[in-house]
Amino acid sequence: MAEQNMVSMLWRDKEARKWGICVLLFVALTSLVLYRIFHTEKLPPPGAKRAVICQKCGKLQVLRIVDPETPKARCAYCGGRVGMAWKCGHCGYEYYIVNFKFDARNLSTMERLRKVESLRRCPNCGEIKDVRPMSVNEVEDELKRRGE
Ligand SMILES: [Zn+2]
Ligand SMILES: [Zn+2]
Repeated sequence: MAEQNMVSMLWRDKEARKWGICVLLFVALTSLVLYRIFHTEKLPPPGAKRAVICQKCGKLQVLRIVDPETPKARCAYCGGRVGMAWKCGHCGYEYYIVNFKFDARNLSTMERLRKVESLRRCPNCGEIKDVRPMSVNEVEDELKRRGE
C-alpha cells in the first residue's frame, strides 16, 4: 500500500512538473513574442524620407524628417537647415521651400492663392504654374546619376 502511495505521489508530482514546465514555456514564449513585437516596432527610424535641399550649401539630398512643416533636420554635408526640394519644370532649377504656413485669416481666396503661388515661385525664372515638389525616388535616382 505504501509503495502504491509513493507511485501515485510521484505521478502526481511529475504531472505537476509537466504543468509547471508548460506554464514556464508559455510565459517565456509569450514574453519573447511581445519583446520581438515591441522591438521591431521601435526599430525603424522615426519620420519619413523627404527630398530636401540645404538652405546653406544648396545640396540636394534625402533625409528622414519627422515633421516636414518645421524641419529640424540638418544638412548631412554642412549642418545647415533644409527646405523641401522643389523643381521648376520651366527652367529645370531646383530650389527649396521652407514653409507653406502663413496667416490666412484676413485673406480672400484669391489672395490666398496668390500667396501660395508666391511661396512656390521659381526663384530662377519666376515660373508659378510649372513647379512641383521633387519625389524621394526622383532625388535618389538623380543623386545616383550624379554619382553622389
Ligand atoms: Zn548643407
Ligand atoms: Zn524656373
